[in-house]
Amino acid sequence: MTNDQGIEWKIIPGKLQARFSPNGGKPFRVSLQVREWDTASKQEAAGAAAEALRYEAELRSGMLPEELKERMDARGIILLPPFQELAASSCTCNFTQPCSHARSVWTHFYEYISHRGILDAYRLRGLPEEELWPLVRAKRAEAAAAVNAGAGRSSTASPNPVSYEPAADMEEAKEVTSMLKEYGDPPFWNRPQALYEVLDLVYESAAEAAAQTLSEKGGRS
Ligand SMILES: [Zn+2]
Repeated sequence: MTNDQGIEWKIIPGKLQARFSPNGGKPFRVSLQVREWDTASKQEAAGAAAEALRYEAELRSGMLPEELKERMDARGIILLPPFQELAASSCTCNFTQPCSHARSVWTHFYEYISHRGILDAYRLRGLPEEELWPLVRAKRAEAAAAVNAGAGRSSTASPNPVSYEPAADMEEAKEVTSMLKEYGDPPFWNRPQALYEVLDLVYESAAEAAAQTLSEKGGRS
């Protein structure tokens, strides 16, 4: 891909290669080596991305949500190292490495990833999409299993876990739909109608059915 500074680049795990023509002049070939995340760091990076469905939606559109960045910081995951911590650099100019072209390429790469190119930063760190998404799904399944295990324990402790509080349940349902309105459909949703519209209908008919059942029961007793 090419950006408006006339830089063309190719990104593979651990390596950023660029063809850079400063001021439209003679092109230099710059190659930067970036340490890939180790296995534990990949797990942490995927774990942070799995913490909310909307993170995946934003990542897929090429953006890094601020909140996800904070969660990565909390897990000690650095998306990209600073220039002086790159593993190595080379350039077709004859200056001492790292040269000014290498530095420019790195600066432009930062700019590029902040404009919808975030998945290339993951790729550079050794987590291309074909590895990132399965790992995120696995992390989400792990978290769901942990929650279910917790719920199983508490329901055996409580002999009557079933309760229906129409007002409170409706409030929660409305929160979910307003979040969907704000953040958009989750990545798995591929129907033409927005998910929140479908859910609104489901909630309404469920509330009607519940009201009907309650009034029938009330009538019989
Ligand atoms: Zn150079």
